[in-house]
Amino acid sequence: MAKDRINNFNAGPAALPLPVLEEIQESFLNFKDTGMSITEISHRSAPFDAVIDDAAARAKRLLDLDDDYNVLFVQGGASLQFAMIPMNLLRAGETADYVNTGTWSTKAIKEAEIQGVKYNVAASSEDRNFCYIPKEFSFTPNAAYVHITSNNTIKGTQWAGYPDTKGVPLIADMSSDILCRKMDLKPFGLIYAGAQKNIGPAGVCMVIIRKEMLDRVPKTIPTMLRYTTYSEKNSMYNTPPCFAVYTVQLVLKWLEETVGGLLEMEKINREKAATLYDLFDNTEFYSGTADKESRSLMNVTFRLPNEDLEKKFVAHALENGFGGLKGHRSVGGCRASIYNATTKKAVAELVDFMKTFEKRNG
Ligand SMILES: *Cc1c(COP(=O)(O)O)cnc(C)c1O
Repeated sequence: MAKDRINNFNAGPAALPLPVLEEIQESFLNFKDTGMSITEISHRSAPFDAVIDDAAARAKRLLDLDDDYNVLFVQGGASLQFAMIPMNLLRAGETADYVNTGTWSTKAIKEAEIQGVKYNVAASSEDRNFCYIPKEFSFTPNAAYVHITSNNTIKGTQWAGYPDTKGVPLIADMSSDILCRKMDLKPFGLIYAGAQKNIGPAGVCMVIIRKEMLDRVPKTIPTMLRYTTYSEKNSMYNTPPCFAVYTVQLVLKWLEETVGGLLEMEKINREKAATLYDLFDNTEFYSGTADKESRSLMNVTFRLPNEDLEKKFVAHALENGFGGLKGHRSVGGCRASIYNATTKKAVAELVDFMKTFEKRNG
């Protein structure tokens, strides 16, 4: 069974750890001796409570966050968070700061714009097609929050460190790099991640909110759009996406118990990324599109000498068992997404393939 699987470099939905998929398969018809599938049990049952509580506890342990933070599971993807953040967290008269580092940041800003709130773009890397992370910021003193996209899935850039906002809470869209490395998240008031990149299947977005941020949530917004609703009801005001939450729980368990935590994960991720970037730095044939110091550990974007060769590369790669290497439709080129679940072996095999492809076509 497993040997039919290809090396998956999809950007999202993306590869999941094989042991997680196997555990799902194994327990699919009879979850924890209930005689039912996880997709058939009540969300108001002890076995499901155990799943959602364990997922939240593991996320906080892995990220070194204490009980000042709540872990919420929300539907609507990261894209709904673009709208919920200004709706819930901006008080009358306050300004929200945004750093624009690519397609997803731009969409987050658009949702603030739609709501007519005051916002300030504190920095942008649009001048060079978002190939770098800005270093200079014009933050608003006493802003309600500063929103960043920690990893730019489409442009292949990632913040190496987070900006000093002088006490203003940071908010990050971590959809494509949550739990990929050890970072201090204490300056964050909220982080969120659509699960389908690095922590699970599509259908759930993990939102981690500092409890004091909940004081900002107005009662005048619809129930399902309030962070307080999710916080007060353990994300079960209505039926949560049970299967997606269950898969996230298993991925977090894998990360803690099999990988051994974020320091280990980061080491593996750095090695994987380095093999690809070293290749770019030693050839003219493949060129990385992101500035060196802004390179992403998760989404490695690159070009070949021309578009015909890029098409040929993507097609030949697939014939050889490497999937998902086409760049996002908005930017073209190629992209290897190497999230936590992508093994060192898969990346090493890809690099070998790329070297052979260069010899034959360079
Ligand atoms: C994929 C992605 C999104 C969109 O996520 P949805 O869950 O589809 O709404 C937002 N932000 C980033 C950084 C992403 O990679």
